[in-house]
Amino acid sequence: MEIYSGKGTLFMGLDAFVPCNCFIEGKTTEPPVPREWIMKDDEGYFCLNPEYSNDDSLKDKIHLWSEHCCKHSGMKIRQSICNWAGVRAFQQAIRQIDPTLFPILSTQLPNANGGCIHIEDIKKALSELDLFENYVNSIRSVYLINTDNQQVMYEYIDAYRGRIITSQRYSLAFNKDGLNIFELETERVRFKGKRIEQQVYFYPQWIYRSLYALNNKVSSIKKVRWINRDTGEAFETPWGLSIDGETYPTGFSVEERAVSPSEYQYITQPLRNIFIVAIEMNNAVFWC
Ligand SMILES: [Zn+2]
Repeated sequence: MEIYSGKGTLFMGLDAFVPCNCFIEGKTTEPPVPREWIMKDDEGYFCLNPEYSNDDSLKDKIHLWSEHCCKHSGMKIRQSICNWAGVRAFQQAIRQIDPTLFPILSTQLPNANGGCIHIEDIKKALSELDLFENYVNSIRSVYLINTDNQQVMYEYIDAYRGRIITSQRYSLAFNKDGLNIFELETERVRFKGKRIEQQVYFYPQWIYRSLYALNNKVSSIKKVRWINRDTGEAFETPWGLSIDGETYPTGFSVEERAVSPSEYQYITQPLRNIFIVAIEMNNAVFWC
């Protein structure tokens, strides 16, 4: 079963780094090869210049040396950005505002790990972040709300077509028209609703413990009953929607709300941090 995690958590996401200048400034320990044999590759890593040698053992020695040769681990200043769902939500917000206002941020955030933003674009990217924070409260977004506490659980992400869970047979997704469960193979919608109740039935502890002893991948859930609060229509799945893998809200609703500027700080703040480091170092930001 695949679960698309909430955008704030750091799980399978985007990281960035700026290479340090210690080697150029002579602040590293002595390298295992003559200094001129060392170069920075297209991905921001210090490595053996193939014009001098292609010896694998030397490459390994340089790699080991680069890990601890200066005060920066691996000769990099690193910054975790956010998970991929968070990147997609940010890109979606940029498209909703107006991508032509954000020529760098709309094109230079990666779709997979790798690539970089060159130093000449980083000052522009920083001012685009300011602009984004000024404009973001002009847009609205669709959210799945936990009705037990009125907190947002998920924002609708177009790139995932609103999907939250994909199991072997079904997908759970939502959009402005409501939450729905559909068959993977046929895309036939088996359940939908805007105001939904989730009833979770667990196995008794003793049964679950003996099942777990046989197969530790087994779930403690016996079944989950989804009920449309407006029509009474119901559907059952062997899994449910939890906050943290343990707490299952008793209900959900789908709502369109105005976006608040603080909602995107999970990505704007780490981007700002690494852009400032890049300007101080006069180096590119590499995605990894
Ligand atoms: Zn350094």
